[in-house]
Amino acid sequence: LRTSGDPLERIESGVRGYAKLFPAVFDRAVGSTLTSEDGRQWIDFFCGAGSLNYGHNNPAAKQALLDYISRDGIQHSLDTVTAAKVEFVETFEELILRPRGLDYRIQFTGPTGTNAVEAAIKLAKQKTSRSHVIAFTNAYHGHSLGSLALTGNRFYHSEFYGSRNNVTHLPYDGYSVGVDSARLLAKMLEDSSSGIPIPAAIILETVQGEGGVNVASDQWLCEIASICRHHGIVLVIDDIQVGNGRTGKFFSFEHAGIKPDVVCLSKSIGGGLPMSIVLIDPEMDVWKPGQHTGTFRGNNLAFVAAAAVLKNWADPNFESEIQNRSEVIQTKLSSIQDRYSHHEFDVRGRGMIWGLDVADGTLARTVIDDCFANGLLMEASGAEDQVLKIMPALTIPTALLKHGLDIFGQAIDRAID
Ligand code: PMP
Repeated sequence: LRTSGDPLERIESGVRGYAKLFPAVFDRAVGSTLTSEDGRQWIDFFCGAGSLNYGHNNPAAKQALLDYISRDGIQHSLDTVTAAKVEFVETFEELILRPRGLDYRIQFTGPTGTNAVEAAIKLAKQKTSRSHVIAFTNAYHGHSLGSLALTGNRFYHSEFYGSRNNVTHLPYDGYSVGVDSARLLAKMLEDSSSGIPIPAAIILETVQGEGGVNVASDQWLCEIASICRHHGIVLVIDDIQVGNGRTGKFFSFEHAGIKPDVVCLSKSIGGGLPMSIVLIDPEMDVWKPGQHTGTFRGNNLAFVAAAAVLKNWADPNFESEIQNRSEVIQTKLSSIQDRYSHHEFDVRGRGMIWGLDVADGTLARTVIDDCFANGLLMEASGAEDQVLKIMPALTIPTALLKHGLDIFGQAIDRAID
């Protein structure tokens, strides 16, 4: 790559990726700062799509990994019990499950979020002997054929995939002004003329990350949970992007006080390394041993990094520090919204995931490019990529956060004025 020509041009011709959108050869990253080979730096508001909540090369994870590798710890173990797995499970139970009064069983599902979603839906179907699933508009649950069926955006689908089978997408909370979509769902399930059978599962994100930072109200979530209880429907919360503290609490559904039957976790659970799990209500665990498997479910390096970053949750101030940063972001976005009140921008978010909906994908791209040119990495989400998404590491220092927000604000000014 380095022997002839510009590496970016060469990689762009042979590899599908982000070379055009973010023209840099990234090389190193610490905390919330990325550095390219040629020494340029960016503040990271993208956070590996939510997989780096504790920052790049988190010092605790890095040290634990270095120690583990230097003592020749097991790297990969499929389903066997290892010291690293035990350490992860015990840490997760002690710091996350027990303090929240949760008794979930943990199933390791593989490296990606999609693996967790596939497992959750299969389990719900097996448990209920039903095949239908309800998901929501703007949902994002993955791209494999099973999980793609649950992902809303038409752009990802093709008539040839045959991938919409047995899934109905209903309006997410707030999708249509004045429509209470939980009540609508309750009525449709009671009404045989609606054509929607009682499903095996309802799957949802409490904040839709890829779908445009749409935040479901706690009340709506409680109503959905109650519909599930009433009909014996398995409630699956996809906390892949907004779990792991992203909304200010470890699980995003804690705000609403509901207890899902199944929870999907991935991205930041592995402390920066690939890992996914499903949490299963003990009553739901109907699988026979070996009924749902996959090779890379025993990535012990991920278990080591995961246990290390989970220790953040032993700090009694961790949640309030997220809240402080949340307020910094919200204040900045509200001031931008006020400055451009004639543009009807919408500000949405919770914890450390925020969106500025500028209702125009081209404008959003202009802002992203300007930010990139000025040292800030960020992305858009939403069906038209019209929502500028602010998703820094939970651990970003406040001064760096403010600096990034200033770059963002100036980019908006330049794009509009
Ligand atoms: N669910 C949600 C909510 C996600 O945000 C994503 C990834 N953006 C996935 C599932 C799929 O995860 P992965 O890309 O790791 O398969």
